[in-house]
Amino acid sequence: MLFVDSFYMFLGQLVVIVVVIILILLIIVLILGILFAKKNKIKFPRFLLYIVNLLYSPLKTIAHFLKLDDNIIDDLAIKVRDEINKEKFKQIPAEKTLIFLPHCLRHADCPATLQKEGLNCTECGLCSIGVIKKKSEPMGYKLYIVPGSSFVKKIVMENKFQAVLGVACHEDLNQMMMLLSDFCPQGVLLEKTGCFETKVNVKKVFEKLDSKY
Ligand code: SF4
Repeated sequence: MLFVDSFYMFLGQLVVIVVVIILILLIIVLILGILFAKKNKIKFPRFLLYIVNLLYSPLKTIAHFLKLDDNIIDDLAIKVRDEINKEKFKQIPAEKTLIFLPHCLRHADCPATLQKEGLNCTECGLCSIGVIKKKSEPMGYKLYIVPGSSFVKKIVMENKFQAVLGVACHEDLNQMMMLLSDFCPQGVLLEKTGCFETKVNVKKVFEKLDSKY
């Protein structure tokens, strides 16, 4: 009986030690990842992405516990995926690349209507969507203005493409890039987030699109 008690006590201590070691390793990976990403010098990107994908929720909890920015894990995942895919993205022609913009970029007086493939922008000139559409479509890109991930999934099913560029807030962009990870995704974060009249840096979008030429 004494032996059984000692065994369970030992087992309990072992589990606690393993959990503490895993937590310390996660915190080290998290801090190193964030530091490297801030300096745009990402080391071991595939390993980092694997850890972030696998332990997304625990990492978010740790970041919250450490009082770090709520978006830090998504930001890290976006930067790492961008880095991994950027060379392959450049090599895929515009005609085989889709652009997804969020409909929250539209102006309050937007005259466009929502169709089954997203917002039907008329290029009225009131917001950045029109600017991006006007320049990117003649280049060969297919552009979609979507209200949510259900539209993205539908468009993905109905199109043949090899690459994708997304614009969104941290969490949505990370999830979109995760969902479309087989299509060498690139991402541009919104500069002003929210659900209404958000903003994107158009220059940053075209830095990615122009990289193919
Ligand atoms: S440019 Fe397009 S999306 Fe923007 S407000 Fe005009 S019609 Fe709407």
